[in-house]
Amino acid sequence: MDSYRLRFARTLFFLSALLVLLTGLLATAKAGNVIAVRSWPSEENSRVTIEHDGIIRHRHFLLPNPNRLVMDLRDAPLNDILKSLENRIQPHDPFIKSARVAQFDPQTVRVVFDLRQPVSPQVFSLDPVDPYQTRLVLDVYPKTYRKAAPAAVTRTRAQQTTPFPTTSSKTTKSVNLNRRVTIAIDPGHGGEDPGALGYNGTKEKDVVLSIGRRLKRMVDAQPNMRALMTRNSDFFIPLGNRPKKARAASADLFISIHADAAASSSAHGSSVFVLSERGASSATARTLANRENASDLIGGINIKNQDSQVASVLVDMSVSGQIKQSMKLANQVLREMGKINSLHKQQVEQAAFAVLKAPDIPSILVETAFISNPDEEEKLNSASHQEAIANAIMTGIKSYFAQNPPHAR
Ligand SMILES: [Zn+2]
Repeated sequence: MDSYRLRFARTLFFLSALLVLLTGLLATAKAGNVIAVRSWPSEENSRVTIEHDGIIRHRHFLLPNPNRLVMDLRDAPLNDILKSLENRIQPHDPFIKSARVAQFDPQTVRVVFDLRQPVSPQVFSLDPVDPYQTRLVLDVYPKTYRKAAPAAVTRTRAQQTTPFPTTSSKTTKSVNLNRRVTIAIDPGHGGEDPGALGYNGTKEKDVVLSIGRRLKRMVDAQPNMRALMTRNSDFFIPLGNRPKKARAASADLFISIHADAAASSSAHGSSVFVLSERGASSATARTLANRENASDLIGGINIKNQDSQVASVLVDMSVSGQIKQSMKLANQVLREMGKINSLHKQQVEQAAFAVLKAPDIPSILVETAFISNPDEEEKLNSASHQEAIANAIMTGIKSYFAQNPPHAR
């Protein structure tokens, strides 16, 4: 072989070796390793999340008698995490009874969900967003779609009169109402969206649910008042669906409950917000609204499924009347919050919070305390302080109605 041919052969050899190496690297990058599985059952729908670090091709179909949902995952190795999905299905899940995970063929892992009832499934992928990598999401809804809101409002007489267990005696006297009013209580975040994280790991979604439940009991104990919870367990609700639920139940007030966070662990105090039509009242209010509005990205919504009608209703109707009433309610609640905690801001603030956009319901967002502050995190975790927060909001609601009696319907 002459030197020219030798060099050519060598180059060819190196090139093909490089090609093999690159193909191998690409294949490794493509295959999605499952890194976490989670399940979020609720009365309305159940969600299963499969988080992975690459690309997973998938398909799904339903089988009857008995009802099953089959999900085939291509190129995802059957690792221990994926297999552990079998143990993630919770016994109280109203839709999914159990899951079975097995290798179906060399390229395919098959997940079979045994169902408790016929369902409408939605499967979609979410791009990485802090703190998650790519997520494959399965949402199952009841086959016959029910309007979500009324179920949470309907209570038996016995439940309505259940005495409030702990410190309800602290609650000031009741307000006279000329008709029954409905208070929508909206514990922020839930499910895939933990909300802000405390200095010692407390999740915003957990403490605000607990405060929301306490407030619900206080509201339900008032004559002529009833509470609607937008969520009463740990699952995610898209931001737009929260005011939508309140409107479906003809709520008179909408109260979203949150806990604040800041980079500095010394930031502290409570604040109350209402919607703004033009710009935020401060840079921090704008930052906070942006963070709270990111909930849909983290919680995960199926974009194809978004109810465009809701959005247009919310955009088309004027909110100026709503904001005026919301301010009155917010001022009452802020004053009461100031009696149980320091105030982060002495006046009500305004920003474009997505959950406050119901055009016809006075709506406020209460940042109960800074979960990023170790002292306030401890308070947020304490039953007595949760009770005090709920009581402050309750007293604010009553003062509002005392000065602004509900219109007859
Ligand atoms: Zn929040």
